[in-house]
Amino acid sequence: MDSTLTELPNVMKFNDFVYQRPEMAYLKEEFHNLLEEFRNAGNAERQDEIASDVNALRNNFSSMRDLASIRYTANTADPLNQAERAFFDEHNPEFEGLTNEYYKAAIQSPYRNKLEQNWGSQFFRLAEMRLKTHSPTIEGLMQEDNALSSEYVKLIASARIYFEGKERNLSDIDTFTSSLDRNLRKMAMEAKYSFFEKNAGTLDTIFSNLVKVRTVAAHKLGYKNFIQLAYDRLGRTDYDEKMIASYREKIRKLLVPLVMKFKEMQAQRLEIPKLKYYDEAFKFHSGNPKPKGDKNWIMQNASRMYNEISPETGDFINFMSETDLMDLENRKGKASGGYCTYMPDFKTPFIFSNFNGTDGDVKVLTHEAGHAFQVYNCRDFTIPEYYFPTFEAAEIHSMTMEFITYPWMHLFFGEETDKFIYLHAIGSLSFLPYGAAVDEFQHHIYANHDISSQERKKAWKSIEKKYLPHRDYDGIPFLEQGGFWQQQRHIYQRPFYYIDYTLAQVCAFQFWAKFNENHDLAWNDYMRLCKAGGSRSFLELVDIAGLASPFNNGSIEKVVTMVEAWLKGKHEKMNRL
Ligand code: ZN
Repeated sequence: MDSTLTELPNVMKFNDFVYQRPEMAYLKEEFHNLLEEFRNAGNAERQDEIASDVNALRNNFSSMRDLASIRYTANTADPLNQAERAFFDEHNPEFEGLTNEYYKAAIQSPYRNKLEQNWGSQFFRLAEMRLKTHSPTIEGLMQEDNALSSEYVKLIASARIYFEGKERNLSDIDTFTSSLDRNLRKMAMEAKYSFFEKNAGTLDTIFSNLVKVRTVAAHKLGYKNFIQLAYDRLGRTDYDEKMIASYREKIRKLLVPLVMKFKEMQAQRLEIPKLKYYDEAFKFHSGNPKPKGDKNWIMQNASRMYNEISPETGDFINFMSETDLMDLENRKGKASGGYCTYMPDFKTPFIFSNFNGTDGDVKVLTHEAGHAFQVYNCRDFTIPEYYFPTFEAAEIHSMTMEFITYPWMHLFFGEETDKFIYLHAIGSLSFLPYGAAVDEFQHHIYANHDISSQERKKAWKSIEKKYLPHRDYDGIPFLEQGGFWQQQRHIYQRPFYYIDYTLAQVCAFQFWAKFNENHDLAWNDYMRLCKAGGSRSFLELVDIAGLASPFNNGSIEKVVTMVEAWLKGKHEKMNRL
C-alpha cells in the first residue's frame, strides 16, 4: 500500500477523473439565463454571485475540453479520443462566443467600478481587448486562418525523408546534427532541406494566404494592418510596436557580437576552421550531455530535487506524482511535443512530454514544471482569466525554474553537469538574437502585406545578416535563398508570439542573478510572482517580482555583464572537454 496516499485521503488519480461531454444546448440556455440575471441584477454583490455561476459553467467546459485533449494526445489512434477532440474543435467557437457575451455584460455593467475593485483591472483590460479583436464579421476568416495553420502543421508532419537506409521524419533527421561525423551532419541537413525545397511552392502559398486572411481581418476590424491586431490578441496592454523595435535594436547591438564570439569558441573547441550551419548543434567532441538514467530514475531524482528546493515545490511534485498528472514517456500513438495545461474542475495542472534520452527530458521537468508550479499556486483563484498570465509573463516562471534547478543538475548529469549548465546558459543568451530576427521579419511582412514570396525571402536574408551574421549555410540552396524561417512553426501558427520568449528570458536571467546572490530572498520574489498568476499585466508582474522591465535602459546590458562574468574562465575549461 502506498503510505503517502493514506495521508492524503482526498487525492483523486488522473485515471479516475470523470469525463462528460458538455451538452451544448443546455450550456447555452444556462449561460443565457445567467447573463439575463446578470444584466438585471440590482447591485455589484449580486452580479459578483452570478459571475461565480458563469465561471463554474466556463470552468466545466474548459476542464472537459482539456481532459479530452490530454486523452487524445496520449493516444491519438483511439477513435473515442478522436471523436471527443473533434467535438471540441467544432463547438469551441460557440463557447468563445458565449464568453464574449459575458465580457460585454461585465464591461457594460453599471456597477463596473465596484466589480473592478473586487476583480482587479486586468480582467477588464483582457475583456476589452478580446471584444476589440473578435467579431462575428471575421469568424469565417478566423476559420480559414485555422485551416491554413493546420495545413502547414500537416505538411511538416508528413515529411518522410529517405536517409542512411531508412525513411525518417524531420525530428529523426535532426538527431544527426549531433553526429561526430561532420560529413554525415552535412548530408543530413541537405536531405532535410531538400524536403523544404520540394515543398517551397506550397509553403509559400500557405503563408501568402495566411498573410492575406490576417490582413483582411485587421482591416475589417478597423486596424491599419495585422500588427496591432496581433498585439491586442496577445493581450499586450503595456507596450507597443515602437518599444519592441528599440528593444530589438538593443539585442542586436549588445548580443550579436557576443554570440559571434561564442560561435568562434565553439569552432575552436571542435577544431574546425569555420562553423557551418550543420555544426551548430554539435557542441563537444565528447558528445552532448545526457541524463544518466531512464524515466523512473529521472523522476526519483526530480522528486528529491523539488523536495530539497523548498517545501512548496516539494508539496507540488509529491502531488503531481501521487495523482499521475505527468505523462512523460514516449509511446507509440502519442502526439509529439510537450505542454502544461490546467483543469480547474479538478484543480490540477497536467504535464505532457515525450522523453527520448536527451537533456531535453530534464528540461521538461524544469521548464514545464515551472508552468505547472505557477498554476498549482493559482488553483484557488475565482477568476479563470487569472489562472495563467499572458505568454511573455508565463514564460518567466518556466525559464526561471530552469535556472533555479542548476545546483541540482548533478543529480541528472553526473560528471557532465558543467557541460550541461554551460550549454544551457550560452544557449539561453544566444537565443535572443534569433528571437529578435523572427519578430522583425514578421513586422516587415505584415507592414508590407502585398510583397511577393521572393521578396519575403530576400527580407529574411537581410534580417538574418543583421541578427545572425555568423550563419554559414555552406551552399544548401533552400537556406541560401532565404527559406530558413519556413520551418519556424510560430510564424505560421502563432504570429508575433515569438518575442515573448525573449522578454521572459531577459527576466529569467535577472532571477538567476538574484538566486546567485541570495537564494531565500530570490525565492520569496519568485513565489510572489507565481501566486500573482495572471491577475496583472506583464509589466505589473515584472514589478511584483522585483525585476527591471526588459524595455528599460540598462536591463539587457546588466544581463550581458552578469552572464559574461559567470562565463569567465569557463570557456577554457570547456575547450578541454
Ligand atoms: Zn513555456
